[in-house]
Amino acid sequence: MTSRVASFRATLARRPILGDGATGTQLQQRGLAPGAGGELWNIDHADRVTDVHRAYLAAGADLLTTNTFGGTSYVLGNHGAGARVRDLNVAGACLARAVAGERAWVLGDIGPFGGMLEPLGDAVADEVALAFREQAAALLEGGADLILVETMSDPAEAALAVTAAKAAGAECVIATYTFQKSAAGYRTMMGTTVADAFPAVLAAGADIVGANCGTELSLDDYVALTAELVAHAAGRPVIVQPNAGSPRLVDSKICYDESAAQFAAVVPRLLAAGARIVGGCCGSTPEHIAAMAKHFSK
Ligand SMILES: [Zn+2]
Repeated sequence: MTSRVASFRATLARRPILGDGATGTQLQQRGLAPGAGGELWNIDHADRVTDVHRAYLAAGADLLTTNTFGGTSYVLGNHGAGARVRDLNVAGACLARAVAGERAWVLGDIGPFGGMLEPLGDAVADEVALAFREQAAALLEGGADLILVETMSDPAEAALAVTAAKAAGAECVIATYTFQKSAAGYRTMMGTTVADAFPAVLAAGADIVGANCGTELSLDDYVALTAELVAHAAGRPVIVQPNAGSPRLVDSKICYDESAAQFAAVVPRLLAAGARIVGGCCGSTPEHIAAMAKHFSK
């Protein structure tokens, strides 16, 4: 594992890295009901999860993200699987690892636990930290090379997850927040600015920081946001993973409007603004990643 993280760092120092695209919307295309626990598919429909990883690797992605976004005991508990954290996360990491081989690195994906920490909510920080650590340990056990803490809104929660991943043995941890545009600039759902969001995860040991899954952000917004991320990243590499536009309901199906060509066209601007890793979030597909790949010399 050490050598893979070392090769990741060496490559990142040499050239920008291409992430993969959405997992959830890809699984929905393969029959997952919206709102269902996609992590259960790591065991129940492993072939379909593998299919998504293969499609992204074939598209040229350098990174494969495990299908474990909702893999904490808190979120799995909503699907009656709160006691299956280890099995589902180990399985998810194994599936991505098997496809990646030596051609890609595996990001063990950790999303929000789905509640609010005290004092705003009723979740106890020590218990949430244990849940993140349990998930991170399983992801590393299954073969994840790095840990990705993503879609965060609360710096306290993000810092708990980064600390937990490091404590579980992760050598390299990526932390990304979800920002939306307000009259006062880019803010998380909790109202946190980029300047206020990053210090907590940097202090917790995040090696790479950035943004994913913005709400109502255009690709132009992502370019402006990237410059702001770089300004507050304390010299750490910056990752940007835009949505393919905002979800719209069309004939009771969820649609995303940003095309693969639009994604590809914005890549040079994101890189010029200082992004070192670019991938896609909700609605982005293997076609998006394939179109972006021409900007990443291998
Ligand atoms: Zn997303």
